[in-house]
Amino acid sequence: AAEHNSFDLDSLVTWKAGEPVPFSLLASTFEAIADTTKRLERTGILINAFRAVIATTPADLLPMVYLCTNRMAPAHAGVELGIGDATLIKALAQTTGRKESSIRSEYGECGDLGLVAFNSRGTQKTMFPPPPLTLRQVFKLFKDIAAVAGEKSQDRKKAFIIKLLVAAKGQEAGYVMRALQGKLRIGLGEETVLAALAHAAVLQKEGAQGASEAIAGRLERAAQIVKQVYSECPSYDELVPALLEQGIDELPQHVHFKPGVPVKPMLAKPTTGVGEVLDKFTDQEFTCEYKYDGERAQIHVLPGGVVKIYSRNSEDNTTKYPDIVKLIPKQLKPGISSVVLDAEAVAFDHSTGKILPFQILSTRARKDVTVENIKVNVCVYAFDCLSINGRTLLREPLTARRDALASALEPLTGHLEFATAKTSRDIEELTRFLDESVEAGTEGLIVKTVADSYEPSKRSSHWLKLKKDYLEGVGDTFDLVPIGAWYGKGKRTGVYGSYLLAAYDPEGEEYQTLCKIGTGFSEEVLKQLAEQMQGLAIPEARKYYRYGESLVPDVWFDAKAVWEVKAADLSISPVHKAALGLVDPSKGISIRFPRLVRVRDDKGPEDATSTEQVAEMYRKQAVLQQKQKKGGGGG
Ligand code: ATP
Repeated sequence: AAEHNSFDLDSLVTWKAGEPVPFSLLASTFEAIADTTKRLERTGILINAFRAVIATTPADLLPMVYLCTNRMAPAHAGVELGIGDATLIKALAQTTGRKESSIRSEYGECGDLGLVAFNSRGTQKTMFPPPPLTLRQVFKLFKDIAAVAGEKSQDRKKAFIIKLLVAAKGQEAGYVMRALQGKLRIGLGEETVLAALAHAAVLQKEGAQGASEAIAGRLERAAQIVKQVYSECPSYDELVPALLEQGIDELPQHVHFKPGVPVKPMLAKPTTGVGEVLDKFTDQEFTCEYKYDGERAQIHVLPGGVVKIYSRNSEDNTTKYPDIVKLIPKQLKPGISSVVLDAEAVAFDHSTGKILPFQILSTRARKDVTVENIKVNVCVYAFDCLSINGRTLLREPLTARRDALASALEPLTGHLEFATAKTSRDIEELTRFLDESVEAGTEGLIVKTVADSYEPSKRSSHWLKLKKDYLEGVGDTFDLVPIGAWYGKGKRTGVYGSYLLAAYDPEGEEYQTLCKIGTGFSEEVLKQLAEQMQGLAIPEARKYYRYGESLVPDVWFDAKAVWEVKAADLSISPVHKAALGLVDPSKGISIRFPRLVRVRDDKGPEDATSTEQVAEMYRKQAVLQQKQKKGGGGG
């Protein structure tokens, strides 16, 4: 394991075994991580911090992991701090005796409320300083803050925040503040946290030293196991205790998919045409389904009839779809007590019996909908079955999962249908099916091998998307993160006129720019975007942004939003940095003629198109162009 020089294990442990771990461990871990952009070092720092906790007070590993991910519970639990900047500023003013206006102006200048909190430490007057913060105490206070609801909730939350700030020493105040804002700004991804957990568990258990080859292989495998387990059951509440008690090898027996916890959805890879599908699946049997353009819905019917609906990002969407909650239990066949479906919820017009575009679905209210006030109807198109009567089907082939789907549900036209499917190898028949899919109001096809299992959270080569719109060019849209903008001129004064968009490199945990986008927006859209983005402005680029010196925007943003963008083609770029070194040793890739398709609320920045995907699309385009050249214009 990589050990960070100034972060060695022995000097980390400043508390006695069994005692609560001080919060200062987390603050110094973050500090060390923020200081380096080298991935190995970052991981090494985290590994040692986790090891220090495991070696002394393992009960504090769970709060430590949650605080590292800036969360308090699994995504599907929907636990949010729910604090505005105004409350944080008030709390800081009250703890330090500073004027709110002075805090605000300092915040305006430096853009980091954590830094303001840190700088304000000297002005705090406490006669009886409280004891140092511990990890579990901070975590508990965070949960207390989240639990406050109802009247005067901001004031009541503020009381907890003050408790935290009063006890925070040195750097701690900065990290408490940033965590409360949900902006840790150290760019620590989930992948790194999971890998570090796995490494720490193995190294602590086996007391292994150095980087001998045997241990390297063992660590790699451990990381894979932990990632796999987490994708089936994305909950640290389950993962961390089991890891400590059972160890790595036993982990999959104890933590696995179960109804009530959304599995990370299986994802598909883009293709450029029927020909590519046939090339890829020469030896494999496959089937094609309509690719419905709505919102992914993982529907869990639990024993006793409780229905839960989860989004692509494992968020609880149950209160958005009371109609689906009501419908599904009625369509269960006799003898079915629980089932988990993978499906797409699609806007539907019952008067014409037709599918409506995604844009209509996006106008549906997002939560606390009642059946009586539904404005946009939906039809559920089910395409997979992940569990039936408590039996997990993840490792079964698609054919078996489809059979289970049919045995579990009675379809109801316009409300609950099975995805339209066709199995064929005939290129003409497939092309016709693709055309039909588009006429039916869908985006194209998803082509799936029939013998393979469900692969949670993987962009699998067993599922290929064939989108009609993009067949000639790039094959797919990009999901990009706006990290900067330029002020508009002329008519666009007062809003941002163009944006700098980036793809995500999960290896290096970096956002690398792919294009500047500035045309194709209506004024209305530009206004909306500016409103959404203003709150994300930061004074300078993050250390983990990779961009060209000749393309520095007027404003930088925190990496939060995700925009779906389509483009004409990809090219090697002297300016942009996406996939730097993957295709060309010194140049990145950029996309030409980018156009905004939609804002993706259901994706987080780490779900953005990866730089490896960008490189893969570039390579594919190159092959296609070669073929076309050889075809000599003949088609
Ligand atoms: P991804 O989910 O792959 O990151 P995305 O969310 O941008 O990408 P697309 O690339 O357009 O979505 O396609 C995948 C999505 O298509 C799935 O997540 C799912 O919501 C939807 N979908 C519609 N019909 C099907 C189907 N028959 N099988 C699988 N997915 C389908």
